Amino acid sequence: MNKSTYEPSRSRRRNSQPQKPNQSNKGKNLFTLLSILFVLGVFGGGYWIFTIKNNEVMATEHFADNAKVLLADIQEERDQSGLANKKTIDSSDQLKVVVYTPQKANLPFEDLEKDLQTITEKNKEQTKKDEMAVIVSKVTLRHLTDQMDRYQIISERYRWNEAKREFIKEETLEDSPLYASQQTGKMITAKDLIPSEADLLGIQQVIQQKILDQSDDKTMIDKVLALPAISFDSEFTYSPEKLTVVLPKNDTGVDKITLDYKEIAAFINTEFVDPSTIEGALPTLDPNKKYAALTFDDGPNPATTPKLLDILKEKNVKATFFMIGENVTANKEIAKRIHEEGHEVGSHTYTHTPLPGLSQEQIQTEVRKTDKAIFEATGVLPQNIRAPYGAVDVKTARITAKPFIEWSVDSADWQTKNTESIKRQVLSQTYNGTLILMHDIHPETVDAVPAIIDGLQKEGYELVTVDTLLSSRQKPLHQYFGVGDERVVD
Ligand SMILES: [Zn+2]
Repeated sequence: MNKSTYEPSRSRRRNSQPQKPNQSNKGKNLFTLLSILFVLGVFGGGYWIFTIKNNEVMATEHFADNAKVLLADIQEERDQSGLANKKTIDSSDQLKVVVYTPQKANLPFEDLEKDLQTITEKNKEQTKKDEMAVIVSKVTLRHLTDQMDRYQIISERYRWNEAKREFIKEETLEDSPLYASQQTGKMITAKDLIPSEADLLGIQQVIQQKILDQSDDKTMIDKVLALPAISFDSEFTYSPEKLTVVLPKNDTGVDKITLDYKEIAAFINTEFVDPSTIEGALPTLDPNKKYAALTFDDGPNPATTPKLLDILKEKNVKATFFMIGENVTANKEIAKRIHEEGHEVGSHTYTHTPLPGLSQEQIQTEVRKTDKAIFEATGVLPQNIRAPYGAVDVKTARITAKPFIEWSVDSADWQTKNTESIKRQVLSQTYNGTLILMHDIHPETVDAVPAIIDGLQKEGYELVTVDTLLSSRQKPLHQYFGVGDERVVD
């Protein structure tokens, strides 16, 4: 029984014996698995953390190494910039900020250090928290012409891209550029750009024509003629591409006007503008050719001027007509035809009274009434004036504010009234660059013109308008007798 009881118990024991190790094996396996998982977990997690940490360290290292190369390149560029820079570095693992402050004397900035600081701060603010970046603030300098420099404060940001292992250049922050005279280092002013008062008056004429061109108002001509002159005290906004002028108080409805340098090329120091803006602005003469300008005064006259225009048309020659205002008013259609056929129109005053004896008001009336008459007939304000009898003095020149066109060859047609003599006189006296004086009110003059044109062309002369002969460079307060003979009125 015992045995039997034992037996079963043995057998139970026997049975249970393999069960026991079985149970403890399971526990062991679980333990091992857990242990492995634990170890894996610890090591894996550790490794994971380690990897991230390591990547961060690596990224920081990559960033630092590459930043060194980048900054060395930038340093080299700075060394060559001609600005003798003082370098300030503010560096962390994430962000390297380098500010180059030029040490050159005569810079056009009011507070350069502050401006550099402001733009750098702005760039820092735009940098994201987790971003690794290099910020470089500096001044760029470009010699635009022999006399003009362009300065600009900029701030660049190079963002490190660890995946691509490269810097990516973000949008550069820029202050407005400053343009400085190389000579003084100071900002270019209207006085640098516009050399003299005569030039200022030349610009005034351009402004007047421009306002007229932009207007449909029939009464605008009176307002434009009454427009007070701009002065060096006027407010100018300069850029190398264009100039904006605030006009003195006036009735035209235009308070400021922007001029392209092409329009005022004759009246500016072209060293202070972008050369591309004035390309081909002024006519130039071929130094290997001979030129002369035929000028006709005192018209238009219905008996003689149309015949002269027919001749000029047939010969394909352009001339210049200095017209008397009264005659323009009486012969609008002829004046219009003169302009439409490509001839140049100039003022010869309203009543042909010698200007120097007149009062300021009288001179103004003589000039403005003629301007108005010519404008109403042709749509253009006469830029040039020929004074009656060529008489001009300083006071007259100031009030008139137009270039005075004199002459170098006098046909003496008004004296001789003889076709053969007029022809001989002109052909024998003309030389290269001459302004030839004739009067289209005399039939003998008109009769002499075909032979004069033929004779001059045979000698190799090209017949051009006054503007072309003087390369459109004539200015108020000056008088012109021919090419290379320019005199200040005194
Ligand atoms: Zn005259």
